[in-house]
Amino acid sequence: MFTVHTPDDVDGLRQALTAGPGRVLVIGAGFTGCEVASACRELDVPVTVVEQGTAPLTGALGAVIGGVAAQMQRDHGVDLRCGVQVEALEGEGDGDGDGLLRRARLSDGSTLDVDVAVAALGSIRNVEWLEGSGLAAGVWGVACDAGCRVLDVNGVITDDVFVAGDVARFPHPVYDYQLLALEHWGNAVAQAEIAAHNMISTESERWPHLALPEFWSTQFGTEIKSVGVPTYAGQVVIAQGSVAERRFVAVYGYRGRITAAVAFNQAKWLEFYERLIDRAAPFPPSSRIVDEPAGRRPVAAEVPDRPTPQATVVVTGHEPSERRVALVGKTYL
Ligand SMILES: Cc1cc2nc3c(=O)[nH]c(=O)nc-3n(C[C@H](O)[C@H](O)[C@H](O)COP(=O)(O)OP(=O)(O)OC[C@H]3O[C@@H](n4cnc5c(N)ncnc54)[C@H](O)[C@@H]3O)c2cc1C
Repeated sequence: MFTVHTPDDVDGLRQALTAGPGRVLVIGAGFTGCEVASACRELDVPVTVVEQGTAPLTGALGAVIGGVAAQMQRDHGVDLRCGVQVEALEGEGDGDGDGLLRRARLSDGSTLDVDVAVAALGSIRNVEWLEGSGLAAGVWGVACDAGCRVLDVNGVITDDVFVAGDVARFPHPVYDYQLLALEHWGNAVAQAEIAAHNMISTESERWPHLALPEFWSTQFGTEIKSVGVPTYAGQVVIAQGSVAERRFVAVYGYRGRITAAVAFNQAKWLEFYERLIDRAAPFPPSSRIVDEPAGRRPVAAEVPDRPTPQATVVVTGHEPSERRVALVGKTYL
């Protein structure tokens, strides 16, 4: 059983995969799970991917492009099972076996014989140690302003605590100032630069973190690259290329503006879309675009509901000078 986080985890997993297992079970079809499944197929190892959602990558790209990813997996020989959960991993016998994994039980009543399981279920932010600190910290991260200055529990900016990387939740003006929490290497580096600059700058010289999120993933011989926030969308349209040929750009829109673009083997176009997002270009994009598919039509993007902040707070006091927030129980800011 593997979790994948550190280089040591990856070395252990590589050894297990190259030892020629009968079947690998990947639990969770986010980017990490899909990349592990892709590595299995490259090694000609049988692999089953179990995903509780309707398709792979739906959490990041929505169900429409998730459907394309599902077909891509099946075309490469992945036994993909969506809409089910893994309920148990079992070894041989009832506790007196050899301690080795033998099978998995799924929520649809089926069982799978597997030798290796990889749990790729997302990350948990290490914020427990901030409990009681008076900062706006919870399972979704640590809230900050666009300059990486942390908010206190009342939502007031602190001037001496900064945050950057996966743990930060920051407002991005392009996305209606809603607090975004991103898990990309590029965002962590860019935000760290802003935080470092702002720590040593006066108020008027501070920089806002306004970079558009970008990430990439290579799986099943396809380079998937994204700019913007694909889950911030009501509709999506295949603006260029061909889904059948796995060479296309999907453009996402929300309330009449372009909010993201995802390219499958077409990364060269993303800079163009980045500029369109920056200047609030209308969605759907203009129809004078190279390699436009015939009859292109926006459809519902089917993105998951955006996780809404769920801090349970009570507000005390009646006068502005008295009013304060207290977090009650677990904090989900
Ligand atoms: C398997 C996997 C694959 C990924 N692939 C990609 C990819 O292809 N492209 C991409 O852009 N991103 C990828 N990411 C995401 C990327 O790794 C993260 O976005 C990036 O590492 C975030 O940097 P960070 O510094 O915020 O957090 P981290 O890199 O997680 O570093 C945080 C550090 O803080 C330490 N720490 C935690 N609590 C404390 C404490 N109380 N005191 C002291 N230290 C503490 C942790 O041990 C850790 O070393 C991947 C992540 C994983 C897990």
